[in-house]
Amino acid sequence: MTTTDPVPRGRPRSSGAHKCARCGRMAAKIRVRWPEGAICGICFTNALHITGTCTLCGHEGLLPGRHDGADVCRSCAGISTNMTCDGCGVEAERFRSGHCIRCVLHADLSSVLQPHTPPDLRLKRLINILVETDRPESIYTWKRSKAANGLLAGLGARDISLTHLAFDALPQSKGVEFVRELLVHHSILPERDRHLATFERWLDTRLENLSTTASVERPIGQFGRWHHLRRLRTMSQPGKNLSAATRSAKQEITEASKFVTWLHEEHRIGFPDCRQAHIEDYLSSGPSTRQLIRTFIVWHLKAGTVSRLAVPHRYSERKPLITQPRRLELINHCITATRVAKSPRVAGLILLLYAQPIIKIVGLKTTDLIARPDGLYLKLGTTPALIPEQVSELFWNYLRDRPNQQTGNKNSAWLFPSTIAGQHMHVDSLKDKLRTLGIDLAAARNATLRDLVSELPPTLVAQALGYSAKVIHLHAADAAVPMAGYISAKTHFSSEPRS
Ligand SMILES: [Zn+2]
Ligand SMILES: [Zn+2]
Ligand SMILES: [Zn+2]
Repeated sequence: MTTTDPVPRGRPRSSGAHKCARCGRMAAKIRVRWPEGAICGICFTNALHITGTCTLCGHEGLLPGRHDGADVCRSCAGISTNMTCDGCGVEAERFRSGHCIRCVLHADLSSVLQPHTPPDLRLKRLINILVETDRPESIYTWKRSKAANGLLAGLGARDISLTHLAFDALPQSKGVEFVRELLVHHSILPERDRHLATFERWLDTRLENLSTTASVERPIGQFGRWHHLRRLRTMSQPGKNLSAATRSAKQEITEASKFVTWLHEEHRIGFPDCRQAHIEDYLSSGPSTRQLIRTFIVWHLKAGTVSRLAVPHRYSERKPLITQPRRLELINHCITATRVAKSPRVAGLILLLYAQPIIKIVGLKTTDLIARPDGLYLKLGTTPALIPEQVSELFWNYLRDRPNQQTGNKNSAWLFPSTIAGQHMHVDSLKDKLRTLGIDLAAARNATLRDLVSELPPTLVAQALGYSAKVIHLHAADAAVPMAGYISAKTHFSSEPRS
């Protein structure tokens, strides 16, 4: 609501040719001539808003005149301007056609709200409430705004009913909320938890922002509306404060949105295709607030959108980590353990050198290995990463002699083919094999990431490894690494692994 004067009477006063007797400024126009002299528009309006008891005659009412610095009544000041409303007889500024502003408002609002056709007592009361507010000029200004026009015309045409639901459906504006509050205050609308109302609008905006990606918006919308909103509406009762409940609902929806966005951006999958390995990868590679996706997962499990997923109740706050010497020992083991099958050794190296999650490793294709004059590269992110010379031979040998190349699975496109034709190795199967090699998966991956970011600028690591820059910067922060300190990937990876 604006609180400006009803009509733009206050034209710039400094540039005019008429001197106002009251404020002394040069006005472009004078509004009225009173015994004290010419009065500008602003002073006129102000004068017609002064009420009290006249010091000269004791008259109670409007005191537009001045006498020895005191406000005095019309007759004592000798003012002949008519200040009586033709409608209600009240002493006030004749705002329009001889009527005071309240009479004008009443007429205008009645004509748009049509409280008699068909008769609606609540609309009649709304008109009276609006007319009797402290600042009818504000209502008059607001009434002429586009938003108010839509609301009032809708109510008048009975297209908008006097319910919270109907108000919720309107474009959000301060005016709509102002009218809603008036209606609630005067018991025309029932009390409603304002936290719930705020939450509903927040959810709408949130989903609107996500709507460009349907695969993200859908599961979040279902969770937000069918779970949280329904629950909060049931909880909403007079006297009950939903502040804490709505705050936690917002947190859970926010975290769930981040998770589903991550699935979409990092793995190019929708939520129904999410697997346990994704959840574990997500939880282990970020802050503990990620744990808040639990309710979202549990609700969708019940709804049947996803299956066979679980969120561990408490995920370790401290990230598991192996020491760098242990990591180098494992790298060496992968290179030299010739009695072990090549596939877990190659996968193990990808994990220990590039910190890739297992779910991403099993999905690698042979085309992700790129031969260039200066060496063999592995394409994980946007910039292919050079495979260190010491291990590239193993990669070459492995390419020539991949397992599970039986009839029907010949020339599989997968780097780690499954025994089942056309499929890649199962995540759990590869995990078991890596554990047999002595690799603690999450700890190894965190140690690798930490080492990578301590020697390379985080953005370069992110580009080469296909991580989002955010994840890499988090690991860099963990390792307390300054962002500078550039050492080329080649230098780093060429260093002799210690055993
Ligand atoms: Zn003036
Ligand atoms: Zn008087
Ligand atoms: Zn009147």
